[in-house]
Amino acid sequence: MVPFLDLDTQYRSIKDEIDAAVARVLDTSQFILGREVAAFEDEFSAWCGVEHTVCVNSGTSALHLALLAAGVGPGDEVITTPFTFVATVAAIHYVGARPAYVDIEPRAFQMDVTRLERAITPATKAIMPVHLFGHPVDMDPLLEIAARRNLVVIEDAAQAHGALYKGRKAGTMGELACFSFYPGKNLGAYGEGGCVVTNNAEYVRTIRLLRDWGCEQRYYHKLRGFNYRMEGFQGAILRVKLRHLDRWIETRRSHAEAYRQLLRDTGVTTPVELPFARHAYNVFAVRTPQRDAVHATLGEAGVQTSIHYPIPIHLQEAWRDERYGEGDLPVAEQVSREVLSLPIYPELSPKQIGEVAGAIRRWPALATSARSRTGN
Ligand SMILES: *Cc1c(COP(=O)(O)O)cnc(C)c1O
Repeated sequence: MVPFLDLDTQYRSIKDEIDAAVARVLDTSQFILGREVAAFEDEFSAWCGVEHTVCVNSGTSALHLALLAAGVGPGDEVITTPFTFVATVAAIHYVGARPAYVDIEPRAFQMDVTRLERAITPATKAIMPVHLFGHPVDMDPLLEIAARRNLVVIEDAAQAHGALYKGRKAGTMGELACFSFYPGKNLGAYGEGGCVVTNNAEYVRTIRLLRDWGCEQRYYHKLRGFNYRMEGFQGAILRVKLRHLDRWIETRRSHAEAYRQLLRDTGVTTPVELPFARHAYNVFAVRTPQRDAVHATLGEAGVQTSIHYPIPIHLQEAWRDERYGEGDLPVAEQVSREVLSLPIYPELSPKQIGEVAGAIRRWPALATSARSRTGN
């Protein structure tokens, strides 16, 4: 039995540090924001190499506040990808703006920046690249277009802690970037969490106000804000986990390499790392035309897999949009039918990786199609 996620093995490996961190919060009763969250903000800024981090209660809230701080609102368009978690697009709608979709490229499944400029209209206000699965978007051409067309860049780095683009960390290239600390992300809290990072002090002031009801001083509301504050427990826990993050990402990368070796000649396509990229492998999405059958067979063999994501956002019932229909974003639509995410957390053992790969290798139709392709 190989679970898709295994949070308790990781907890046991750092139990003493976590328990002490939780006790510190209990001892001080700083349950909302407080000094653990403030200390984590400083430490995360240093780890990213940015000036400011503002912690909030989820990655979705981070996206919402980043868009508000950037002045995106009703009538504006934000260019993004249809192949992402729904939160990216939901946040654009929360501020009253509309998403404009650029299809993905078929190798790393990121926004195809060669199509970006054509998507810009007079209403375009911002670009929201998503470093999906932990692989960075090709940022140089995107940043060049954004600068020339005067557009704000807000990175959705929710899955990309530790990803590098030409040596630069995901989350340090746009005016603003958003991370999620959802438990399954590369840096996961023990509950909900997220943050905005930026070098812009003005944005920081606005986001700090908006996350706490728009108050500088309690009960004096300068802005129409939200209850988007991070809990003290999450700050304390994230401080502990940040100290292990680089090692965990390295382990994810070596697991990815092991899978690549073991899945050679099986007919499933393993993720690529484009020349400019260092993949952080929050999600290890293989690709096969027989996705649904492989998904089901692995499940029966006790290997839990997942599908990120089965339906691109423009075809999701809740987010239908008259400007986009079936066939309009063909690469995203095709990839959605073929991707399958294998377990990739750091605590996965070599034996478990072997079990996952073995279950795929035993899948008869794949074995046959791989044999006929390689001619043996
Ligand atoms: C997880 C995720 C989010 C939202 O983060 P939450 O913390 O779950 O609100 C946004 N964008 C992407 C790409 C994500 O994977």
